Amino acid sequence: MPKFKTASDCRYALAHELGHIIIHGRDKTCVETIGKHEAAADAFALYFTMPPYLFEKDIKCLNEWDLAEKYGMPVEQVLNRAKLCDHYQYQ
Ligand SMILES: [Zn+2]
Repeated sequence: MPKFKTASDCRYALAHELGHIIIHGRDKTCVETIGKHEAAADAFALYFTMPPYLFEKDIKCLNEWDLAEKYGMPVEQVLNRAKLCDHYQYQ
């Protein structure tokens, strides 16, 4: 089992692995699709932990640190999630 520095890192990793199970199931990957599978699992984890509509509403009035606290996610992942919004406001 990997060791995580914070509970939020652990939560994100679990959501990422859940994404693999839901998206890919028992499908064995070939080397060319590993990058795509990782990107899909990352996107799943971002939407799963910071749900659509709720996150898009919160991003209008909370900064990245407040969002990280509210959703229990690392700030880095909040910024990655924000990039998936129509009106990305953080650099
Ligand atoms: Zn993965």
